[in-house]
Amino acid sequence: MFETAFLDVPALRAVHGTVRLPGSKSISNRVLLLAALCQGRTVVHDLLDSDDTQVMLQALRQLGCGVAVEGTRAVIDGLGGRANRPRQAALFLGNAGTAMRPLTAALAVLGGDYALSGIPRMHERPIGDLVDALRALGCDVRYTGQDGYPPLAIGEPRLQLGQPIPVRGDVSSQFLTALLMALPLAAGRPGAQDIVIEVVGELTSKPYIEITLQLLARFGVQVRREGWQRFVIPQGAAYRSPGNIHVEADASSASYFIASGALSAGAEGQNGLKIEGVGADSIQGDIRFVEAARLMGARIDSGPNWLRVQRGRWPLAAIDLDCNHIPDAAMTLAMMALYADGPSTLRNIASWRVKETDRIAAMAAELRKLGAQVDEGADFIRITPPAAWEAARIHTYDDHRMAMCGSLAAFNPAGLPVRIEDPRCVGKTFPDYFETLFAVAEPAGPLPVICIDGPTASGKGTVAAEVARRLGYHFLDSGAIYRMTGLAARRQGLAPEPPHEAAIAALARALPARFGAGRFWLGEQDVSDAIRTEAAGMDASRVSALPAVRQALVELQRASARLPGLVADGRDMGTVIFPQASLKVYLTASAAERADRRHKQLISKGIPANIDSLRADLEARDARDKNRASAPLKPAQDALLLDNSHLSIDQSVDQVLSWWQARQPF
Ligand code: C5P
Repeated sequence: MFETAFLDVPALRAVHGTVRLPGSKSISNRVLLLAALCQGRTVVHDLLDSDDTQVMLQALRQLGCGVAVEGTRAVIDGLGGRANRPRQAALFLGNAGTAMRPLTAALAVLGGDYALSGIPRMHERPIGDLVDALRALGCDVRYTGQDGYPPLAIGEPRLQLGQPIPVRGDVSSQFLTALLMALPLAAGRPGAQDIVIEVVGELTSKPYIEITLQLLARFGVQVRREGWQRFVIPQGAAYRSPGNIHVEADASSASYFIASGALSAGAEGQNGLKIEGVGADSIQGDIRFVEAARLMGARIDSGPNWLRVQRGRWPLAAIDLDCNHIPDAAMTLAMMALYADGPSTLRNIASWRVKETDRIAAMAAELRKLGAQVDEGADFIRITPPAAWEAARIHTYDDHRMAMCGSLAAFNPAGLPVRIEDPRCVGKTFPDYFETLFAVAEPAGPLPVICIDGPTASGKGTVAAEVARRLGYHFLDSGAIYRMTGLAARRQGLAPEPPHEAAIAALARALPARFGAGRFWLGEQDVSDAIRTEAAGMDASRVSALPAVRQALVELQRASARLPGLVADGRDMGTVIFPQASLKVYLTASAAERADRRHKQLISKGIPANIDSLRADLEARDARDKNRASAPLKPAQDALLLDNSHLSIDQSVDQVLSWWQARQPF
């Protein structure tokens, strides 16, 4: 997951290959709650690991459920029949609507002394219609903040289930889902009758109700549905664990990849993008996004658990569509509308206004930044594609879908990058969204590369690593590549000297090197520590003076330039390896200052050192490095000089970042 303050997505041209999507949020949280309400054990497979599922798991633990999670598998020991479950708990539910609504209903029916709250945005999301319905059936639910909104307090119910229970269906289908999951808890009590729920008003987001009904059936409760108006929970219904249950991949998450496939400039006949984990037979309503994407011109094939998407018609066809059946995925259509041949209108999307943020307002504001003309109403949005695309910073409103949608602007024909603010908000449903996109995406132009070079002990390694971290870019420590080469040569019995130049170059060309997150491997062996010894440094310095070895390592180093970008540290980064780099920095400090830093470093490691001899060594090494024939130490012609003798690491990093920012179009 990108933990950076922002993420710059370079302009993208195409997507190819295969993506495997994480489990659906809606299904994951429903399955977790149903498993919790059963008696006995349920093993949940392919569970989504995200903010919202963490919130649910934590709540279930507090309520006395057995919860054991390992990767995407969760073992839940249900509460059913547990007389001694905690009757009192204060549950913090973040911004997870899929936890707040159904837990409110289930706990209100079970009874106890519970407090339910969330982040400030959660306290702005209406819940009054659910509370009204629960009160009508005798539950004790109180508002402890503002009427109609969480936080809530729940007490003991006096259930009266003889009358049909009215619930409004036109604000959020989650209220009905919550009741449907809670009421089977009351249907098995002695003397219980059929329980009838009556929807008042037009039911919104029917497909989510379909998911609820399908999952209830998997847990042994067959709800009778009469149109979309009456739902009957038969007398005697009771939850039964299915033992094992698999969570489908999220069809809404699939929408971003379906869209990127449709926007991809892949040549005709290429196989496009394959999406695994969800297919045409999905129980999720958002799978009908496929039909909408086809209307706009996407070419989509599908099978039982997969989809394959290619660009079909181009530009896309403008649409005028009632999107009530795909409220979440419809946001992705708004992005596709930017690439259409005229204005598109998405209708019947009032529910957007009460989601993680007011999504109609948010979408309108952000699309305008990209150059689109946008009209919005209470329940619709109309988008006219940009006459001229503009580079934008997409604000994401702590809304995962705004962030994922924003990335689709990177396919713009003007070749402009797009900045996604607060990219970590995708953690709500798809923590690795950007990594997954970057693994299949092809950039439209050269990748952003920042080269940082300088003499020994100038701090370039530390500064480069920190710049990479702040931008979410990859980091190439080229010195480590030479260190690994030196180590590999030694292990083959090759002294790092000119007579072995050809043999070491051959070794370097096929070097089984892997690196990431500060660790280094040769083959299967972690050599991160082995390459950091003084001796390994000497060997690195010797092999790096052999021109054939330098040549042999060019491709390996260039291959580390991957989406979304690279910060490369080392001698010839800006001159030989990445001569087209977008920013080159030459970091220096006075010999006195560098000797002082090295001195402190050595002393802190308990190694005795003399500052004057260190300084003499540094000056000698500078002279040798500057004058050597192969890759001498000198700034690239277009490098910016940064003397950091009197700067802290953070100040140096800030300077590099401000030079970088000055070159961005946003
Ligand atoms: O930076 P580090 O100390 O890990 O580098 C090890 C050796 O590799 C240094 O002696 C340096 O001269 C050499 N090197 C090089 N070209 C690079 C990076 C490092 O010659 N791009």
